[in-house]
Amino acid sequence: MKTDTSHDLFTRARDLMPGGVNSPVRAFRSVGGEPFFAQRAEGACLIDVDGNRYVDYVLSWGPMIAGHAHPAVLDAVARTMRDGLSFGVPNPLEVTMAETLRKLVPSMQMSRMVNSGTEATLSAIRLARGATGRSRIVKFEGCYHGHGDSFLVKAGSGALTFGLPNSPGVPKALADLTLTLPYNDFEAATKLFAEAGEDIAGVIVEPIVGNANCILPRDGYLQHLRELCTRYGALLIFDEVMTGFRVALGGAQARYGITPDLSTFGKIIGGGMPVGAYGGRADLMRQVAPDGPIYQAGTLSGNPVAMAAGLATLELIQAPGFHEALERRTHELCDGLEAAARDAGVPLTTNRSCAMFGLFFSEQQVETYAQAIACDTVAFNRFFHAMLRRGVYLAPSAFEAAFLSSAHGDAEIAHTLEAAREAFREVAAG
Ligand SMILES: *Cc1c(COP(=O)(O)O)cnc(C)c1O
Repeated sequence: MKTDTSHDLFTRARDLMPGGVNSPVRAFRSVGGEPFFAQRAEGACLIDVDGNRYVDYVLSWGPMIAGHAHPAVLDAVARTMRDGLSFGVPNPLEVTMAETLRKLVPSMQMSRMVNSGTEATLSAIRLARGATGRSRIVKFEGCYHGHGDSFLVKAGSGALTFGLPNSPGVPKALADLTLTLPYNDFEAATKLFAEAGEDIAGVIVEPIVGNANCILPRDGYLQHLRELCTRYGALLIFDEVMTGFRVALGGAQARYGITPDLSTFGKIIGGGMPVGAYGGRADLMRQVAPDGPIYQAGTLSGNPVAMAAGLATLELIQAPGFHEALERRTHELCDGLEAAARDAGVPLTTNRSCAMFGLFFSEQQVETYAQAIACDTVAFNRFFHAMLRRGVYLAPSAFEAAFLSSAHGDAEIAHTLEAAREAFREVAAG
C-alpha cells in the first residue's frame, strides 16, 4: 500500500496545524500511525491521495447517509451555487428547511439554523438557562456535545480518546455548573434530581450514545429522564446531531416515542456542508432574539448552498423503506462480524441501531460507559490497522460509533467481511 503522498502532506501539516489536523481524532493518535489524506469520495468509498480505496464506515463522521458525492446532492449544490454563495438576507431554502424539519421531527415546532453541531448545543443550553432562569445543566459521562465550555466535562469522543475528560481553559466556575451522571443508571438520575432538581435548567443527552462507541438506552430510561425533567421543571434536550435522521427518519425521539423540549441537529442535516440546527417548543423558541431576549446569531446561518445540500439529503432519505433497508444491512454486517470474530476466537459484541453500530472487543454486551471504556483497545487498534490495510476504514478510535450509508451494497459488505475474517485472525495471533 503506497502512502508517500499522505506522508509528505502530514509532515508539512504537522508543522502548520496542531497535530497536523483541524479536528483531533483525525490525527490517528489513539490507533497509532498516520492519517491518510482524501483525494475524493464516491458512494461508500474514500479514495486517498496515493490512490488507495477504502470502504468508509466513518462517512465524514455521520453526514453522508446517502453515500459520498450523491449526484442529487451535488446537482442541488451546483444549481444553488450559481445564484450566489451567501446573501445575508433571508432565502427561500431556509423556510423549506424549517418546514421539512417540523414535518420529519414534529417536536421541532420552531427551529434556528446554525453552522455546526457545537453551535447548536451551545445555543440550546443558553436557551434552557435563559428560559428557566436556572444555571445548572446535566450531562452524561461519555456523551459529547461539541467543544463548548460547559460540555467538556467527562466528554466522550476525542476528549475520551485523548484522556482529557476536563479541558484546561474551561473556568472551574463554569465547569461546576455542569453535573454529570452515568448513562443508563435510573437511580443516579432520580437521586440527583432529588438533591438539585430545582436548580437544573436542562438535561442534555445523546439519546443513543454515539461518542463512547455506541450505547443504547435501557428500556424506559429516556422516559425516566423525560418524567424527571417534567416533574422538576427542567428542559429535556435531545442532542440528535448524530442520531437525527440516522436511527430513524424522525431520529431517536421517533424511535423511542419521547418528546424532548429542545433538540439539536447537525451532520446529516447539512448533507456534508457545515450545518447545525436547534429547535423545539414554540414557547421556548420565541424567547430567542429577535422574538425574545436570548441572543444568538450567525453571519452564514441558513446559507443557501448548505441548505440545498441538506434538503437534497433529507429528500433522499424520505424514500419509502430507506431506513428499513439500512437497518437490514447493519444486521447483516454486524452478524457477519460477530461470526468472523467467533471463528477467530476473538471476543466481540456489537450494538446496533438502524444505520449506526458499535464494535466492542469484550465478552459482554455493553450497556454502560464503564463497560465501554473497559473494552480491549489494544485489540481494537490492531483490528483497525488490519482492516485499513485491506481497504476498510473504521473510525480511528475505539470510542466512536460506526455508520452505514445507502451506498453500502452487497459488494462492500462482502469485501468488509472478507477483510474482517483475516483481520480477526491477525488480532488473535497478537
Ligand atoms: C458531532 C457531534 C456534535 C458536534 O458537532 P460539530 O458539528 O462537530 O460541532 C455534537 N453532538 C453530538 C452528539 C455529535 O455527535
